[in-house]
Amino acid sequence: MEILRTPDEMRQWRLRQTGTIGFVPTMGALHAGHAELIRRSVADNDNTVLSIFVNATQFNEQKDYESYPRTFETDSAMAKALEVSAIYAPSQESMYPDGFQVAIEPGIASIPMEGSSRPGHFRGVATVVVKLLNAVEPHNAYFGRKDFQQLAVVQEVVRALDMSPAIIGVDTIRDADGLALSSRNARLSLLHRGQADIIWKALQSGRDLFTLGERDSSIIAEAVRTTLSAAPDCTVDYVSVCAADTLISEATITTPSVICVAVWFGDVRLIDNVDLDL
Ligand code: AMP
Repeated sequence: MEILRTPDEMRQWRLRQTGTIGFVPTMGALHAGHAELIRRSVADNDNTVLSIFVNATQFNEQKDYESYPRTFETDSAMAKALEVSAIYAPSQESMYPDGFQVAIEPGIASIPMEGSSRPGHFRGVATVVVKLLNAVEPHNAYFGRKDFQQLAVVQEVVRALDMSPAIIGVDTIRDADGLALSSRNARLSLLHRGQADIIWKALQSGRDLFTLGERDSSIIAEAVRTTLSAAPDCTVDYVSVCAADTLISEATITTPSVICVAVWFGDVRLIDNVDLDL
């Protein structure tokens, strides 16, 4: 397994490959959710590239960026065990040299939810994903459905810029109590970790109402909020019931939709979602 430290090294490695390339972009601190993406890529492609890059431009707060877990040694051991062909872990300077100014302005999928709660976040995501895809030039790139809106933003950008990689969404991997795995879970206090299972319970309460025939978005969102309020330290950022393709919230659900939530436990912000399939 090779470790590539600059876009140039990445490109040189890429030129030597034959066969299909799968790509899994991450910010490291790998867990079983990332492992699932890697497994999918390894199964589907001749070679898999895993990127590990904590991208400063997509963080809204310097403190969140600085405290983001960095565990390169254990990450590379996991990558090797999963038969990753190369890790692309570019240095900050090689990605954003002094004077770097260019950015990709994401499309309509970037406007609601995370877009309004985290100004500039998807601009950072879109820019880094385009840079990574251009350096790796994969046939297939794998993104988690846990970050549902991110997946939609990336799909929209790749389509709009006539880029060739297929963007593939992978289902969310959860802990035994339902909490979606996330590198940020490690920053939850024991007390908050004990309460965080409320997120999946709340999403399920919304989905249960939908399964029973409820189609009023605000009633479903209210049920989710009510369940979340059972956890004393959970602060809701948003609960949104929106169309899966446009991410637009309609009063009445008539197309395949998704419930998306963002909550805070202390200074840790967590997001999750569940599909409402018609
Ligand atoms: P991150 O390192 O958090 O930027 O995530 C890298 C990729 O892993 C993204 O495409 C995420 O959506 C995906 N991912 C993160 N957590 C999970 C999970 N629990 N299940 C599946 N995919 C995930």
